[in-house]
Amino acid sequence: MTEPLYYQDPYLFEFQARILRRLTGDQGYGLVLDRTAFYPGGGGQPPDRGAIEDLPLLAITRDGDTPVHWVAQDPGKERVHCRVDALRRLDNMQQHTGQHLISACLLKVGGFETVSVHFGEQYTAVEIDREAIAGEQIQQAEALANRIVAEARLVETYWLSPEEIHRIPLRKKPPAREKIRIVEIDGLDWSACGGTHVRKTSEVGPVVFAGSEKIRGRMRLRWLIGDRVRAAYHRQREWLHQMSVQLTSAAEELPERIARLLEERKALARQVHFLNTRLGELLADSLSSKAQPVGRWQLVHFNAGTEFGPDFLRPLMQRLIARPGLVAVLACQNDAASAFWMVGASEDCRLDFARLLPPLLPIMGDARGGGRGTVWQGKCSGTPKLEAFVRALKARLSEGESHG
Ligand SMILES: [Zn+2]
Repeated sequence: MTEPLYYQDPYLFEFQARILRRLTGDQGYGLVLDRTAFYPGGGGQPPDRGAIEDLPLLAITRDGDTPVHWVAQDPGKERVHCRVDALRRLDNMQQHTGQHLISACLLKVGGFETVSVHFGEQYTAVEIDREAIAGEQIQQAEALANRIVAEARLVETYWLSPEEIHRIPLRKKPPAREKIRIVEIDGLDWSACGGTHVRKTSEVGPVVFAGSEKIRGRMRLRWLIGDRVRAAYHRQREWLHQMSVQLTSAAEELPERIARLLEERKALARQVHFLNTRLGELLADSLSSKAQPVGRWQLVHFNAGTEFGPDFLRPLMQRLIARPGLVAVLACQNDAASAFWMVGASEDCRLDFARLLPPLLPIMGDARGGGRGTVWQGKCSGTPKLEAFVRALKARLSEGESHG
């Protein structure tokens, strides 16, 4: 039987203990102690971290009801000095007490019942039994919680038997057990809880609503509690500062500045579209005026390199093959490792691409792709050997002319 010191005094962060039993396992050495201030986890609160004789505590598991403390090595003595990671535990105590406080305030302002809670590294989340909550009600709950923090009300814990629990207005009935641990926030809340808590609500620190999401048809409300509020403020202030510097704008003017930038971006996109269309028309004229006669057809080819992408080449291809008797080969470089290619022909060319192209594509390199009718497109690794491909295509087309 290990004496749980964290229940008697949650502020005890250093203690001496005697090793009762040693276990070995994948995690190293498991120590069963006669007493422990390491909270083993439970009620959503994560297990403590810390050290036993300077050996970092790796995990706490349970052997029945008995906590087992895992370390990498045998400490080599019977009496050990143990140290709890106090900052992390104090944060857990703020989060746990803060959650009781928030749940009680949500119940008070609008009858919102807490269905589940989640203690994350960043936020403490409270899921309520409704699919909606008004912003005003969240504000009321937040204001009430902070008022009770300011009142420095006592937070007490005690054990009651199942026969005794009718004496207190429990927020949520626990499953019947031998003895139930009650956490009471003076005059506000009575909850069954096995976690660690602060002594007074003032130690919870500020309680701030930090966002919500709908999950399984219920609202999940995220909260920043205690020292995390200050940390979050400084983190967010740094983001704002970086944005201000990049956009050369005061923080309070950022929303307006960003809205204006997005408007400008839309106008630019419209202009780019207009210019691309006009450029595509001119390029189609210029390319077709320089088309080379190959048998019965005219052939054009154009490698846009990195200047234009597939989105520019596709409409260009449509413009080219709208002209009679034209065969076109287009390509562009996506990046150093891959290129995009297109081969197209006007309908009146009556070319059978399914027969014509598959033997020729390997000449371009590692080309993959396909198409329907007389427009094919695909990808090619590295830089496509377009000149060689066009030469082979020309040869094939002249052949087709002489044989067809
Ligand atoms: Zn609790």
